[in-house]
Amino acid sequence: MSRAYNFCAGPATLPESVLAQARDEMLDWRGTGMSVMEMSHRSDEFVEIAEMAEQDLRELAGISDDYAVLFMQGGASSQFSTIPLNLLGEKTSADYVNTGIWSKKAIAEAKRYADVNVVASSEEGGFASIPDQASWQTSTDAAYLHYTPNETIGGLEYDFIPDSGSVPLVADMSSTMLSRPVDVSKFGLIYAGAQKNIGPSGLVVVIIRKDLLGKARKETPTMMNYQVIADNGSMYNTPATYSWYLAGLVFKWLKAQGGVKAMGEINRRKAEKLYDFIDVNEFYANPIDPRFRSWMNIPFTLQDDTLNSAFLEGAGARGLLNLAGHRSVGGMRASIYNAMPEAGVDALIQYMADFAKERG
Ligand code: PMP
Repeated sequence: MSRAYNFCAGPATLPESVLAQARDEMLDWRGTGMSVMEMSHRSDEFVEIAEMAEQDLRELAGISDDYAVLFMQGGASSQFSTIPLNLLGEKTSADYVNTGIWSKKAIAEAKRYADVNVVASSEEGGFASIPDQASWQTSTDAAYLHYTPNETIGGLEYDFIPDSGSVPLVADMSSTMLSRPVDVSKFGLIYAGAQKNIGPSGLVVVIIRKDLLGKARKETPTMMNYQVIADNGSMYNTPATYSWYLAGLVFKWLKAQGGVKAMGEINRRKAEKLYDFIDVNEFYANPIDPRFRSWMNIPFTLQDDTLNSAFLEGAGARGLLNLAGHRSVGGMRASIYNAMPEAGVDALIQYMADFAKERG
């Protein structure tokens, strides 16, 4: 059996060597006679796995001791409410930037707890660009400023870190985490659902500046209280042990690739290749302002959208899978996270060229 090139936005393709190692260790992890899945989360073995994963993540992302790293559950979506519950403190309002479907979901959930001030929106332009920061109507008494560095569905990515002054900056890095170097010290809180660049779905990694802990509203569910999770080493209850272990294998793999800097260079090259091809071939189009095109999620349309299903069928026949765009926008989308090899992007471009020649 050969592996397909899986362009799914998430759960997404994982490095083959990671899956092979997980397979090899499945029945008997290093002579323990059991799978990691069957181990007590309190066992020395699992605690070692968990601590190693955190240490590797800290090294990869450059996370200082001023930050706690939490391995939580409930995906990135659960953070949409966890964040306001924990960070509002005495304040009543929070600032949000609206650049697409994921920003909107975060905003809708925050509105249940806070007066949400949408400081800028690119909705009128179809979320094709990022509003210039000079135009943002931020407020100095916001509890935090939330933004979505990469809109997974729209394929829109910031090429700058917003300046939030003394207001803590909060970022949903679900689809861009570890894809290129980022200065963590600029953030109050970073969160990322794991199923793109980290590991299996369900797990969500939260990186929080320690001075922001301990401010949760009293009605905050215990399982959503960052202070409780931090105090208990993310083991207040039974954590998602197997996902945590797999994330650890992915971090080791990423280190072996040369870390986030080397990966960023590969990702830039992969994305540029695909955009360059789309731009020169008039059969295909991408609607995003070139400055803010995502390196991770590349939506594109066919000149004649009645050919969409033929395109997907032909792609499938070549082992190029999950290229349909999100159900809310249609068209196509190629998600090319860290684990998508450059050869996968080359195979996609070759197929797109052949299809356009045949049907264009
Ligand atoms: N934020 C972004 C940017 C995402 O891409 C996603 C998932 N595609 C989510 C949040 C939601 O993640 P989850 O399904 O893990 O809740």
